[in-house]
Amino acid sequence: MGVYAAGDVASWHNPHFGTRMRLEHRMNATEQAIVAAGNLLGDAVPFAPVPYFWTDQYDIKIQAYGIFPPDADLRIVQGDSPDGHFAAAYGRHGRVVGALGWNIARQMRTLRRLVLERTPWTAVTATPALRPATVN
Ligand SMILES: Cc1cc2nc3c(=O)[nH]c(=O)nc-3n(C[C@H](O)[C@H](O)[C@H](O)COP(=O)(O)OP(=O)(O)OC[C@H]3O[C@@H](n4cnc5c(N)ncnc54)[C@H](O)[C@@H]3O)c2cc1C
Repeated sequence: MGVYAAGDVASWHNPHFGTRMRLEHRMNATEQAIVAAGNLLGDAVPFAPVPYFWTDQYDIKIQAYGIFPPDADLRIVQGDSPDGHFAAAYGRHGRVVGALGWNIARQMRTLRRLVLERTPWTAVTATPALRPATVN
């Protein structure tokens, strides 16, 4: 094919999630450029990241790992949404596919691992440390 692309413009198959995606955030542009450049020079590395972005909106720090399909299951797994500090996990097809942090930076490393390891959704709902509370 001979076409290499990175960043906002690139749509590709992400084998980690088994789906085609196109992302508009900074980390993806950077990481994808590194892999695309390597492949252009002869590597044959699939680009299979757990997407990550953060954004500071006034006094709110939002961090997001993974993907957030509209039909995903959603659970608050840390904190509480009314007090403005919480983390949510997203599940699809029985696996954790996304983790969203809202002013809860420290805990996000643990939640990222759930996405990275494609943790079964049942483990999220059954882990007392995650203090699950279903969102309606
Ligand atoms: C308002 C705003 C806020 C954002 N906030 C966040 C955030 O908080 N966190 C986050 O992770 N991401 C954020 N993003 C997204 C992030 O900026 C982009 O995902 C990232 O910059 C994509 O990098 P890129 O290199 O793919 O594209 P770009 O950064 O858009 O670079 C493309 C470059 O190509 C140049 N170009 C276009 N056409 C041509 C041409 N024909 N010839 C030569 N050059 C050309 C453009 O001038 C540009 O410099 C934000 C974006 C916007 C617009």
